Amino acid sequence: MKITFPHIGDAHLIGRIFFSEIGIDIVTPSANTVKSLERGSEISPDEICLPFKLMIANLIDAYHLGADTVVMPATMGPCRLGEYGELLKSILDSKGYHFQWILLDALSAIGKRELLSRLAHLVSERNKPIPVILWALERTYQIIKELENLDEKAHILTGYEMKNGECKRVLASCRRELSKVTGVRNALKIIRYHKSRLEKIEYDFKKRPIRILLTGEIFSMIEPFANHHIEELLMDMGVSFKKRVTLGWWIRLTFFHSIQPWKFLKPKNKYLPYSIGGYAKETVEEGILCTKKGYDGVIQLFPVGCMPEIVSKAVFSRMMKERELSVLTVIYDEMGGEAGYITRIEAFTDMLIRRKKAEKSKGGRTARKAIAEGNQGFLSGSDAAAKRGKEHVLSGH
Ligand code: SF4
Repeated sequence: MKITFPHIGDAHLIGRIFFSEIGIDIVTPSANTVKSLERGSEISPDEICLPFKLMIANLIDAYHLGADTVVMPATMGPCRLGEYGELLKSILDSKGYHFQWILLDALSAIGKRELLSRLAHLVSERNKPIPVILWALERTYQIIKELENLDEKAHILTGYEMKNGECKRVLASCRRELSKVTGVRNALKIIRYHKSRLEKIEYDFKKRPIRILLTGEIFSMIEPFANHHIEELLMDMGVSFKKRVTLGWWIRLTFFHSIQPWKFLKPKNKYLPYSIGGYAKETVEEGILCTKKGYDGVIQLFPVGCMPEIVSKAVFSRMMKERELSVLTVIYDEMGGEAGYITRIEAFTDMLIRRKKAEKSKGGRTARKAIAEGNQGFLSGSDAAAKRGKEHVLSGH
């Protein structure tokens, strides 16, 4: 069995570490490019959304590289995402790309027994006993959490760098080393080493960078090609930002939600109280969080044709009036023109910077409160650098 799955952010990086630990081969398709998007578009239904077109291109590529089994995350729900697995299978079968399919649906949709049976099938050709697999699984989840924690710290601290680009270099170096490492223990060592590198960078915690919350459709949030590498762009611009929709977030929501539902209870969201597909409801909740925690603005990302996020965009318009929320919606299409996106994002961040300066010069309560609360939220953590920074930043206001 040669397993493959579509590119979704770090999924292959982490999947390779896990599967090699338990002795199973995986096939990694080539990274997403404009060419692969064109190939995917050729055989996809016209009206389908962008993630599908990239995924189908990945799977064809993996087929040519020898993959015979597809593992697909799937979630039941009213948007097209709920149909991705079946639709991919039917199109690929009709074109002669025959795979064995293992769909990882939400626990709430298929039940514990069915999910366990699919997972057992997934690791049926391993050369390690079950306790080792469970141990590797637990450690892999640890890798995901620690890597996301490293990302989160770097995304915040980037706004305080003395020399622009250092946090970004640490993240790139970490991923470069992870792409070559074998064994989950070594992977964890690499991440921890890069966390210590992050702490050694020189920061100026008297700076008051703008702070942005990045949110939107999950694939665009996780896969850098689908969002034109927006995280790197924001880091280059010295903007502190936070994104909560990640691979680990999806795992917690999909698999842990049914086991520990009380941990996922949230205050009622009057703007969009029901799930309408994708994670539109969660996107709106992010907007509410933004105003409560004093972020300067929200950037919402989604691919053209995404139905649920169009609804959250409409809700955001209302919130912009009622809650003074600043939102930039970036809708990615298949044209690949970077310059237009960059200009819009730069214009938005410039506007936030100017507004922040104006508020500061007025000495308004809003500005002071937002800065203090926002920094508190941003820099909370056990990391020594963040703690040091927190004290400096907070004492600076
Ligand atoms: S959330 Fe949007 S982009 Fe994702 S599958 Fe649903 S409609 Fe498509």
